[in-house]
Amino acid sequence: MTEIRPGETTAELPEVPSAGLYFIGRCRTPFATRADCPRQGVPDGPLCRLELDEAWVPALDGLENYQALDVLYWLDRSRRDLVTQSPKSDGALRGTFSLRSPVRPNPIGLSRVRLVGREGAALLVRGLDCIDGTPLLDIKPEACAYSPPAPPKPGVEG
Ligand code: SAM
Repeated sequence: MTEIRPGETTAELPEVPSAGLYFIGRCRTPFATRADCPRQGVPDGPLCRLELDEAWVPALDGLENYQALDVLYWLDRSRRDLVTQSPKSDGALRGTFSLRSPVRPNPIGLSRVRLVGREGAALLVRGLDCIDGTPLLDIKPEACAYSPPAPPKPGVEG
């Protein structure tokens, strides 16, 4: 667990988490350590791979129609108990939920990536900011004008 900085505060975490997650694969990136990662991914960042576990490969079908994807991943090397934190970049003390820091009770990372191609069980993308081997949680097409329209919900206007 990483050290806390002066002024930072922590919460006592429950012994048992409230939900279970299934890792669906791994993010393969050129970043070996946290220090190597960009703070946020950029669309022209280095080529990375989202490698899906075999069982989930058919779940990729149809994604080739999209240029941009939202990728959710588990920032597995983060401590999870900081309530307030002091980012290295500016030293000011702030609430965890006012930051995109990987240190949070549920260390879920979210990146909008550019889909460059597919090689079997792997998607080739640009725009990730995580350490090589970071567990992959989910992939969704960008919600945009080109998304297949969902049928209207009864009783909901607009
Ligand atoms: N783009 C995501 C978001 O906004 O939700 C994550 C942003 S977070 C600021 C990205 C930083 O998390 C990286 O620069 C690196 O310091 C750290 N990081 C990357 N992979 C990690 C991992 N597997 N566990 C813990 N921290 C990680």
